[in-house]
Amino acid sequence: CGIVGYTGHRPAVPILLRALKDLEYRGYDSAGIAVLDGDRLAITKKQGKIANLEAAIGPLPAATAGIGHTRWATHGRPSDRNAHPHSSCDGRVVVIHNGIVENYTALRSELQARGHAFQSETDTETVAHLLETEMAAGADLFEALARTARRLEGSQALVAMTVDEPGTLVATRLGNAGGIVIGFGNEETIVASDLAAVLPLTQEVAFLADGQVARVTPSGAEVVTLTGEPVMLQRRRIPIDP
Ligand code: GLU
Repeated sequence: CGIVGYTGHRPAVPILLRALKDLEYRGYDSAGIAVLDGDRLAITKKQGKIANLEAAIGPLPAATAGIGHTRWATHGRPSDRNAHPHSSCDGRVVVIHNGIVENYTALRSELQARGHAFQSETDTETVAHLLETEMAAGADLFEALARTARRLEGSQALVAMTVDEPGTLVATRLGNAGGIVIGFGNEETIVASDLAAVLPLTQEVAFLADGQVARVTPSGAEVVTLTGEPVMLQRRRIPIDP
């Protein structure tokens, strides 16, 4: 329902929590974040208010990259377990999602037949397992997301990260259900479902079009189409009242 990712030089958790609060107006039933804590992904997710999530995080990790989500459940009841982010079997990839993977039943059966164990009832978790599969076959996260996105039916937006590529986030927009806006700061980049979550950090932004995939790093973003053709992002400056 609400998506945010940050990569830069400042502690990510306070930035993500603030952005999630800016996304609260969309309505939600659970919230969660994942940050890179040394060589593992630290995931905290809670049903209910963002205050519940904040209380569960405890001492803030110093991580400078992470992702956060507010969920409006469509597949799987609201619960801590079904809250996002969702991770792969090996715990090396984590993903947040707006919208619906319409063909998730078929994807889930295929993945289960290949030995993947699922931890939630969500459509979203299939994406984490698909990313893991592509990365096990040699793709980096950017390529893995493009390949995975080609297999997904339905309108949605996704953001993912992996322990194997610290400081990199990837994002895609498929169809018209969820937007993705990227905000370019000074050696820090933010990606979100809404401009409202980006503007506190920077006014320099670009929007992903349907079928585009982005690799986001502190210095900017590289964007391709689902078939790998490079895209020149149109950046614009959003005026805000002083
Ligand atoms: N379909 C996903 C779920 O039920 C994402 C819902 C949302 O957009 O928050 O978890």
